Amino acid sequence: MKLVTYLHDGRESVGLLEADSVRPLPFADMNALIEAPRAQLEAAVQAAGAALPLSTVTLLAPIPRPRQDVICLGINYRAHADESTRYDAAAFGGERPVPIYFSKRVSEAVPPQGYIESHLGLVERLDYEAELAVIIGRTARNVAAADVADYIFGYTVLNDVSARLLQTTHKQWYFGKGLDGFTPMGPCITAADEISFPPALAISSRVNGEPRQDSTTDLLITGIADIIAELSSGMTLLPGTIIATGTPAGVGMGFDPPKFLKPGDVVECSIENIGTLRNTVR
Ligand code: MG
Repeated sequence: MKLVTYLHDGRESVGLLEADSVRPLPFADMNALIEAPRAQLEAAVQAAGAALPLSTVTLLAPIPRPRQDVICLGINYRAHADESTRYDAAAFGGERPVPIYFSKRVSEAVPPQGYIESHLGLVERLDYEAELAVIIGRTARNVAAADVADYIFGYTVLNDVSARLLQTTHKQWYFGKGLDGFTPMGPCITAADEISFPPALAISSRVNGEPRQDSTTDLLITGIADIIAELSSGMTLLPGTIIATGTPAGVGMGFDPPKFLKPGDVVECSIENIGTLRNTVR
C-alpha cells in the first residue's frame, strides 16, 4: 500500500497511489489516517473512491505539515562520515561513540516536483542529502529494539537539504538544516508491511541527471531498531513522527572540489519501493 497527499480541483485529500491513478480515502489528512485504527484503514482502502488519473492531481508531501520537527540522524553511514571529515575535520571529525540526533524544523514540507529554496544572500554551500525517513504509526514509549517494527507505519524519501556554511558556523545544526523549503518529502509513504525489517533498499541521488549517491539503507551505523528504542526510552514518539535516518556518501561537500547546488539544478532522490523525489532549486 502506497499512500499520498494530493491536490485535486484545489482540494487537499489523501489517497491510495496505484500505477497511474489515485483513489481517495476518507480521512481529513495523513496524520488522521496514520492515527486511525488499522481495521478502519483497511476497510477504507477496500472502499476507496473512484480512481483519479495521476495526470489530474498534484502530489504534495505525504505529510505536508508535520506536527513536530523532523528528528534526524547525523553522520549515520560510514562512507558519509569519511567524506564529511575530509571536507571539514573540525566540524565533522572525531570519535562518535553515540548517535548524533538533531532536529529539522519544517513548517511546510516541499512537495515532490516542488522547489528547494536557495536563500541567496543568506545561504552559501547549498547541499542535498537523500535519506530514508521512518514514519511512526503508534505511540512509542519505552519500546524494546525487538518490538520496534510494530511501531512503524511506513517509509518515505526525504531530502535533508543543508546550508553547509550555516551548519558549520553555528555550533548546532538547527538553523542550517531548518530553513523554509529545505525539507522535500515523498512522493508517497510505502506501508511498513511492504518492506522487510530492517529495510535493505537501494538509495540514490542525482543532480541534473548526474549520479551522486548510491548505497543501501542496511548500512546505517545506528539502525532503526536501536534509534527508536533509544529515543523512546525517554521521549514519547507520537503517531506521524518523522525520523530521517541519515544520508550515504556522495553529497556535494564530499567531492573535491565540492559540488554545491545552484538555482536551476534538479535534484532527484530515489529509494527502492518508495519512489523518486524530484525537486528544482530556485
Ligand atoms: Mg541528513
